[in-house]
Amino acid sequence: MQDLYYEKYLNNDLFIKRYIIPNIKWHFSYLNGKRGFSRIYKVPYAAFLKKFFLKSYFTKRVLQGKVDIPYLELVLTTKCTMRCESCNNLMQYFSPNNQYTSTLEGLKTSLETLFEKVDSIQRLRIIGGEPLLFKELPQLINYIENSKKIFTFDILTNATIDFSDELVKELKNSKKLRKISISDYKKSPNLKIPLKQESIFKKLKENKIAYSFNTTDTWYDIEKIYKRNRTKEDIIKNYYACMMPCVSLMSAQGISNGGGDKHLLAPKGAIFVCPVASSLSRLKGLEEFSGDFINLEDDKKRYLDFYVQDFFKACDYCHDYTKPIKNIPIAIQTKKILKLEKD
Ligand code: SF4
Ligand code: SF4
Repeated sequence: MQDLYYEKYLNNDLFIKRYIIPNIKWHFSYLNGKRGFSRIYKVPYAAFLKKFFLKSYFTKRVLQGKVDIPYLELVLTTKCTMRCESCNNLMQYFSPNNQYTSTLEGLKTSLETLFEKVDSIQRLRIIGGEPLLFKELPQLINYIENSKKIFTFDILTNATIDFSDELVKELKNSKKLRKISISDYKKSPNLKIPLKQESIFKKLKENKIAYSFNTTDTWYDIEKIYKRNRTKEDIIKNYYACMMPCVSLMSAQGISNGGGDKHLLAPKGAIFVCPVASSLSRLKGLEEFSGDFINLEDDKKRYLDFYVQDFFKACDYCHDYTKPIKNIPIAIQTKKILKLEKD
């Protein structure tokens, strides 16, 4: 009987694209990591698994009602050392009065609640703002390292804050760290802060900590973020054209109802379709986006339903993803606090 209920997910194309395929991809990546089977059997065994077994493995898990999150972004703070006019996480819309920085306890509460509902998180990405502004990052890494349900993680940084000895020590000892993803902002036309790239590279190399250095000459213009009042059909179309691969988690400290009911709609935190959606909920309140997010205390089935959902109010705020993208210089800095309004 249970199998029949869960079969509907496996017959859904969006679910296959957003859930099954990424789970295969990130579980394969885990198998090739330091803790995976490849430490014993080397890559060909993992490749064999990917081709023949992982699809049926995740299919069976769905039929058993298990929930595996393929790729989760954990938002530590909306504060950043830079202020990019075209930041994909909407940092340019935050003022000193509405910034969010979670506490370690707040994140642990959210993750413990999540662990009660989900069976694994294949890939966790730690993001901000700038995650190195989160003072308890080494302790968070230690917590992740000891969390059985998180398989791998990485950290995204802009390389403006040097790595402390304590942080390097945790990263060096980590068996779950995939890599540090360093964005190269040298080409920003009006960079206001010195980059610590050389010192960071040196420490990572000396301690054999994996990293990637992401250089690019241009960004795409995300345009202004504001409510466009599209039809439901067009909002859904925008979601399909964008298809952001992650989902993003903010602890309860990051979200509020937006001035309404005192009873918080997600008292232990919430998961959103992407960092734009989590930032929008911080800026405008959860009430505005009812139906867009998973309250972490929701039933397990809500987690699976989230991967077949194709209507998110937040997608009305983004530019039209069906149109060709416009390239712009990377990381143009702004002093302004942008408003969620059309210019
Ligand atoms: S460095 Fe720029 S793009 Fe990255 S989080 Fe900060 S403001 Fe956003
Ligand atoms: S809110 Fe919707 S359209 Fe905008 S980035 Fe997120 S998923 Fe894409």
